[in-house]
Amino acid sequence: METTIAEILQKGNLGRDDIITLLGADESADIELIRSTAEKLLLDKCGPAVFYRGLIEFSNLCIRDCLYCGIRKSNAGINRYTLSKEEIVASAKWCADKGYGSVVLQSGERQDDAFIDFLVDVISEIKSSTASEKMPGGAGVTLSVGEQSPAAYKRLYEAGAHRYLLRIESSNPILFASIHPPEQELQRRIDCLKTLRETGFQVGTGVMIGIPGQTVEVLADDILFFKEMDIDMIGMGPYIVHSATPMSIYADYHKFTRNEIFQTALLMISVCRIVLGDVNIASTTALQAMRDDGREEGLRYGANVIMPLTTPLNVRQDYLLYDGKPCLDEDVQQCSACLEKRIRSIGREIAVDVWGDSKKALRRQN
Ligand code: SAH
Repeated sequence: METTIAEILQKGNLGRDDIITLLGADESADIELIRSTAEKLLLDKCGPAVFYRGLIEFSNLCIRDCLYCGIRKSNAGINRYTLSKEEIVASAKWCADKGYGSVVLQSGERQDDAFIDFLVDVISEIKSSTASEKMPGGAGVTLSVGEQSPAAYKRLYEAGAHRYLLRIESSNPILFASIHPPEQELQRRIDCLKTLRETGFQVGTGVMIGIPGQTVEVLADDILFFKEMDIDMIGMGPYIVHSATPMSIYADYHKFTRNEIFQTALLMISVCRIVLGDVNIASTTALQAMRDDGREEGLRYGANVIMPLTTPLNVRQDYLLYDGKPCLDEDVQQCSACLEKRIRSIGREIAVDVWGDSKKALRRQN
């Protein structure tokens, strides 16, 4: 007889087949059982706190040509920008004043020395100007600036950044190759994740969900990849078409419906929580792009990190990774007030003035 979802959820150590069964759940009672198991696990292991990271998309200049991404180098139709050091630091200070214990600095990829010099300078300035009695070490700084050399990673770490997000996008070699130009290699990204860990960073990764050709088997392998790499933080979200990218031509014969992708993205959060334990899992903006309450749903399915958009309004519309990105015309005040209400509405708390490292990372570091 086939193992039921309830039986799988009672097991201690889930194998590949179990994970595939969970990700393939389509009866609403089964989905609710998976969701509530993940939520309970989160509350038991990590508590009700939701950690904020103010997301500062500081530049859309990019040397890469990812086939899905709206700010890829070949997209000539967009206005390229880089915020000044003063603008970035001002955003970070705004976050720290509001009690957000951390910021994420995200941009397109550049590997030139001037870029790393600039970032080192920005990070040092953020650290010193956000230091206070409440946070003597300044705000936590997470970076999301792509593939860099070991020497660059070391400089960024020494400047004071202590977490790094680099999504693997898909750990499946065929799928990875189908969404990137040939010069972008899966192995290189895996090597970067290893280097980041060796450098001292807490390391986050993740995948897009709903890439054409992706299956629940492939997603199960992604989760096993996160486990094998001993990842501290997960950031995943639905793949959403950007009309000016090569992958937009797949949109018409995409196998999955929007609802299916949204539901699978939520299930990925739950199953990651169940398999990976006390890691941090972000409920990402792309979830909200699919449904207005998408980010609260992510929290209900087991996520514990939210990254409110704190990019200055005048450049937000130039950082469009996909069509229909939410919060483009809301200012940061409004964004944060509306989020707070949403988080309270599902019975969770917002942690203030803390970096909000994952329990898993803290355990490993001790
Ligand atoms: N240059 C950095 C940051 C990239 S943007 C880096 O390479 O890590 C952050 C993430 O946005 C990407 O890792 C990708 O997973 C996601 N993203 C890009 N285009 C997207 C799209 N069309 N739909 C959904 N997510 C997308």
